[in-house]
Amino acid sequence: MSNMSNTDNKKDRKSGITRREFIGYSGAAIVGSTLAKPGLAKSNDPHYKPETGMKYRKLGSTDIMLSEVGVGMASGSLSRQLGPFLFDKWRRERGDCLNKLLDLGGNFIDTNVGYHNTVELTGKATKHRRDEIYYVIGHYPRSEKEMRKNLEKALKDLQTDYIDLWFSYINGTDEGFANLRKFQEEGKIRYIGLSQHDPRLHEWAIRKGYVDFIQMPYNRLGMIKQGPADIISAERLFKMAKENGVGIIGIKPLTGNFIPYWANQTNDPEIQEMMKKFKDYGPKNLYQAMLRWNLGNPNITACAVGMDTVEQVIEDVEAVVTRDQYASAMQDELLEDYARLADKDYCRLCTTCVPHCPKGLPIPDILRFRMYYNNYQWGDYAKNLYNELPDYQKAVRCDDCGRCEEHCPYGLKIVENIYHAHSLLTDNKPSVSV
Ligand code: SF4
Ligand code: SF4
Repeated sequence: MSNMSNTDNKKDRKSGITRREFIGYSGAAIVGSTLAKPGLAKSNDPHYKPETGMKYRKLGSTDIMLSEVGVGMASGSLSRQLGPFLFDKWRRERGDCLNKLLDLGGNFIDTNVGYHNTVELTGKATKHRRDEIYYVIGHYPRSEKEMRKNLEKALKDLQTDYIDLWFSYINGTDEGFANLRKFQEEGKIRYIGLSQHDPRLHEWAIRKGYVDFIQMPYNRLGMIKQGPADIISAERLFKMAKENGVGIIGIKPLTGNFIPYWANQTNDPEIQEMMKKFKDYGPKNLYQAMLRWNLGNPNITACAVGMDTVEQVIEDVEAVVTRDQYASAMQDELLEDYARLADKDYCRLCTTCVPHCPKGLPIPDILRFRMYYNNYQWGDYAKNLYNELPDYQKAVRCDDCGRCEEHCPYGLKIVENIYHAHSLLTDNKPSVSV
């Protein structure tokens, strides 16, 4: 393998396991299941399912048509931070959520062997509908032995003998991808992917010809969380992926919940007015608007969306089904406004302000804890973090000298927000309203 040119490598990999060979490896039971999902077979148009209105796109050069939205399970790795009650509730409702997605024409579930027992929950909930679903499962690439152990466990948990889309999470190495190729030749995985936040690593894997698909965070408000350069390089990556026949699953399409909770809680009249415009215009809420924005990019194949309740599944599918009913220019304008306003509230953790605070307050940490509580709704987790700070670093030590705000390049209202954090995260509430 190491002697091959990159192009040969990809060509060989692509041709090395044909559909036919894959069926041979995996047994007759797979025929007519992975390659022709019954839900799609009912429609003459493989891009559309008339019974539900769901739309589908081809994943790169593979023979897989993915529904425009599927369930992403990353929130399963976070739910425990909400406390045992919500964590158990999330797990109990997994089956209802996943089956509702399938009922509505969705056809993929995206999770990772490291996200608690989400793979097992997925298998239990959907094994009887294997012919309607593509499993998109991630693993952490380590030694071949560990990778094989992870794969075998995932197969057992899913109660299946193959995984449609198997991806490396965070990083990939020449050796790791060579191992995946072996698993592919054994018929245990069909296509290989990489999930990463750094476009340069995706580009490396594409250039090497290692991947059939990639997973990349992408959303309109990404400029707030990452900066304009990240969006530009993401767009460049998507173009490159398309040119090389590599499919793209967009992850974090709803910004990891940063914005929506914030929007609901703010008292800012300008934001409330904008939220009203959103509703008058059509999308029920920002989730739908953001999802439509992502899917407006023709280079994106599909979005893996964290759907924690059946209602959220219905809402996200509705965003796909009704996507063409709204003028995208209007929606773009509203999202643009929203990004501008949200910008005022988001701390990039750049730490520019820190050396200017005479009290030595850990400003970015405090603002982070506030976001955990206020936006992510990780109540206890955020309180515990804040209460671990020594008293001399708590926000009440701030004397409003204003030096931090003078130096914040993003113009954040730091004093107001750290006091707000204190009021949220302790029982000792100073009189401040935000
Ligand atoms: S206003 Fe408060 S947080 Fe900002 S520099 Fe002064 S003491 Fe520190
Ligand atoms: S300077 Fe502004 S953006 Fe940077 S860490 Fe401080 S508050 Fe956050």
